Amino acid sequence: MKKEENFSEWYNEIVELANLSDKRYPVKGMNVWTPYGWKIMLYIDSFLRKELDATDHGEVCFPLLIPETEFQKEKEHIKGFDTEVYWVTHAGTNPLDIRLLLRPTSETAMYPIFALWIRSHTDLPLKTYQIVNTFRYETKMTRAFIRVREIHFFESHTCHVDEADAQRQVEEDFEILEKVMKPLCLPYLLLKRTDWDKFPGAFYTVGVDTVLPDGRSLQLGSIHHYRENFSKPFDIKYEDLDGNLKHVHQTTFGMSERLVGAVVGVHGDDKGLVLPPDIAPFQVVVIPILAKGRVEEVTAHARALRDRLSEAGIRVKLDERDERPGSKFYDWEIKGVPLRLEIGSRDIKEGVVTYARRDSGAKGTVMASEVVPESKRLLDEIANDLLGKARKTMSDSIETVDNLGSLPKKILRFGWCGSKDCGREFETRTELKLLGTPYQTEEFVGKCIVCGKDTETIVYAARAM
Ligand code: ZN
Repeated sequence: MKKEENFSEWYNEIVELANLSDKRYPVKGMNVWTPYGWKIMLYIDSFLRKELDATDHGEVCFPLLIPETEFQKEKEHIKGFDTEVYWVTHAGTNPLDIRLLLRPTSETAMYPIFALWIRSHTDLPLKTYQIVNTFRYETKMTRAFIRVREIHFFESHTCHVDEADAQRQVEEDFEILEKVMKPLCLPYLLLKRTDWDKFPGAFYTVGVDTVLPDGRSLQLGSIHHYRENFSKPFDIKYEDLDGNLKHVHQTTFGMSERLVGAVVGVHGDDKGLVLPPDIAPFQVVVIPILAKGRVEEVTAHARALRDRLSEAGIRVKLDERDERPGSKFYDWEIKGVPLRLEIGSRDIKEGVVTYARRDSGAKGTVMASEVVPESKRLLDEIANDLLGKARKTMSDSIETVDNLGSLPKKILRFGWCGSKDCGREFETRTELKLLGTPYQTEEFVGKCIVCGKDTETIVYAARAM
């Protein structure tokens, strides 16, 4: 399995070998989370929960089913999702008067209730989030974590007194995003989507994109400002200080299990997964190197080592299976465990523990007495190096171009006059997707790559996953 040669095949094979997900479930695109894969997802969720709770978001849990009548209230929204929803048409043998759909996202489930919860300016801002499964009938080829039909999904929904306060929420979402992405060691771009590509019903959408090794972009999440586009059809109003009724301004922030897919795709190598320490179900694996006559001694040392690491809060696995060390190394490399510790009779005699880093393959020894702080230090180094390496890969994958001649298989960056005509023409001619303009303005003076007009606007485009 060569990541460089065929990323797509490599990805499928790694997910399978590491046993992150089982796709044999008899509904296509609805995969089974295995204990190992689910654990990784739960660590990611825990970072989201921590940051959202710290910023006064309340966790809610809304029903899965949405009545068709609510779904149809926002016209752009229904147009955007119409071909993707799953319908529930019967209860037992009786056809339903009003059809129900499985949530593709929860605006139309939440907003009728927000209209009841919000009465006065003192009820604002209302900041909520939920982590639930959503359903979208994907017609493109499905792929574990990246394109599935039942999606493990995080969504925050907020309501504000005015556009400026909603804008402050968007800025807070970027801070939350940064804190959640750090333990995943994933770099990303914040790109304001084009008007024809924004979320159905949004005032604007900022996409969170990362870059896969084959030069494709992968959208990891999005942050939307809705203005009053949903509060008007759903009649979410509040009474201001002067007793006037006003519509709230809303925002949302969504991410999904694609984060797991990105971790696999960005950090993995030809030997298997490479997990960032903060989301690894096991951060350290201890392998006893048994020799004849020393089995009991080595086993006792290995168990004591495990206990010390575990008591220090490190997630550790002692592999006592009756297998050769080499085959144990191989198995845990596939699983991406960041740090391997080996202990044999020679190590014991010398008072050391041998280590091997999963990311770089670097090996060495640490003093047995220092194994806890040294393991922590190595795990921190691994996380830093993973992020550094991924950042470099991402910046190497972006190329600024000034004409439509032979385009590199990379994320492209170029001048754009901002017109839809030029944007569309670019997409048609290159079969690439405009990802949008940088949310943080990047200085640029040049010409529109299509019409040649002078412009200071830079835009990104890529083959999207
Ligand atoms: Zn142009």
